[in-house]
Amino acid sequence: MRAILSVFVICFLLSCQSQKSVIKPNVATLNTQPKLVVGVVVDQMRYDYLTRFYNKYGEGGFRRLMSQGFNCKNNHFNYVPTYTGPGHASIFSGTTPKTHGIISNNWYDKVSDSYVYCAGDTTVQSVGTTNKAGQMSPHRLKTTSFADENRLFTQMRGKTIGISVKDRGAILPAGHTANAAYWFHGADEGRFITSTYYLETLPSWVKAFNDTGAAESYLKEWNTLYDINTYTESGSDLNAFEGGFKGKETATFPYDLKALSKTNRGYDIIKATPYGNSIVADFAIAALDGEQLGQDNITDVLTVSFSSTDYVGHNFGVNSKEVEDTYIRLDKDIERLLNALDAKVGKGNYTLFLSSDHGAVEVPSYLESVKVPSGYFNNDAFKKTLNETIISNYKAESFIKNISNNQVFLDREVIKGYGLNLIEVQQALVDVIIGYPQVYKAYTASSMTNAEFSRGVEHLLQNGFNQKRSGDVLYVLDPAVISYSKTGSTHGSALNYDTHVPLLFFGKAINTGSTLQHTTIPDIAPTMSALLGISFPNGASGKPLEFVLEN
Ligand SMILES: [Zn+2]
Repeated sequence: MRAILSVFVICFLLSCQSQKSVIKPNVATLNTQPKLVVGVVVDQMRYDYLTRFYNKYGEGGFRRLMSQGFNCKNNHFNYVPTYTGPGHASIFSGTTPKTHGIISNNWYDKVSDSYVYCAGDTTVQSVGTTNKAGQMSPHRLKTTSFADENRLFTQMRGKTIGISVKDRGAILPAGHTANAAYWFHGADEGRFITSTYYLETLPSWVKAFNDTGAAESYLKEWNTLYDINTYTESGSDLNAFEGGFKGKETATFPYDLKALSKTNRGYDIIKATPYGNSIVADFAIAALDGEQLGQDNITDVLTVSFSSTDYVGHNFGVNSKEVEDTYIRLDKDIERLLNALDAKVGKGNYTLFLSSDHGAVEVPSYLESVKVPSGYFNNDAFKKTLNETIISNYKAESFIKNISNNQVFLDREVIKGYGLNLIEVQQALVDVIIGYPQVYKAYTASSMTNAEFSRGVEHLLQNGFNQKRSGDVLYVLDPAVISYSKTGSTHGSALNYDTHVPLLFFGKAINTGSTLQHTTIPDIAPTMSALLGISFPNGASGKPLEFVLEN
């Protein structure tokens, strides 16, 4: 019986195969589909990193994408907060936190009365480590990504793989139906891992990669790639605006990463150096073979997020030599990735886009030193003032549940208990908050749901406002005012330094050229859907960028 059955199965498989060769699936007839779409995100990459460091880049990396592809020079986020989780979700789902629900990296969850992490999922287990770092999935993402739509369109025959050193940078782009997302677990392990959401065990190519000791090889000296005196596009190496590593007195080159790893969480230190990008490029190149990406006519999707740029920016700031060196080295890693794609998938057989999940502000203490208005916002003092005001105005215990991500969450039960009207309380708080120094604007949740804002910061707030998940009162700080340490850069605002990021398209079915037309992050996914001839992500609000596409 078993023999007959297996003969039958073989015949069936053969007939399927011959059928496949006779009747070409519809997907091959449009002739615009690349074999592989590569979505590259560079974490915390401001638009001006393309132009400021242009003369330091080689011909095969960023400059190749700019000269042979299409450069959208006026590309912006159209929502706040401009953080990593929302950024990755928006790029690949073609919409904003209002719809996809990833309102921050971490947020106060009204239902469970606790903080949740955008990719955290305790219902799944780690794969490749016993550490909890693998308990991650995209379950908080409400909408599909274009990679999901490609999976649905191709009857799950087109693959999706997501890669990053950050879990959320690998998981959110790849979407719900991904074959796998892999991210880097540092600590004392230095390995790429995943979760049971995708796989029960690591594939042999991932185990083999981890066994090569790649992480160990990057625990080496970090010095500037070229003579530091030629780095004229950044400030002096020694200044008062940089953090640095524990165990080294000054934030100056060179850095002995092997020695510093002991005081900076082991292999995690790699993430905070350009070598975090290099190991991601190594792993992505290994994935081309390991996952057989772009090897047939059914489009696969590979997402690669380079996150070390963000760690370096947070630590050393926008104007640092460390950031400049990180981009010079990333340019080389991107060149390596492009060369590998040329060799393994073939020139003209793949389409790549590159963007960022948010920009970054110049270090405010540096801006102050050159007379640009800026500053630091003290969250604790703000919270204290707000609580005291409520207690004295209402003669009631404070009904603030939580203040985070520039939003105030109220305890609606307590407000009800005092017989107060929620909307009136929200408005009263707005009136108090707007009087607070360094606050530029404040809005109630009701105004976000009852009015339609089409421009300005209100528009960005509204696109970032999710009625189920966001707070009761939203406030906006003055330009270049941040809640952060006095060293290093951060991000999150609706201002151009955070919203203006690169958007480059390159490869199959992409025009050569550039535009200064205003484009937005949610335009990326519909553009890729249009190129593939597939459904738009189910919540997409952006528009396909016609001028980018050849046909
Ligand atoms: Zn960041």
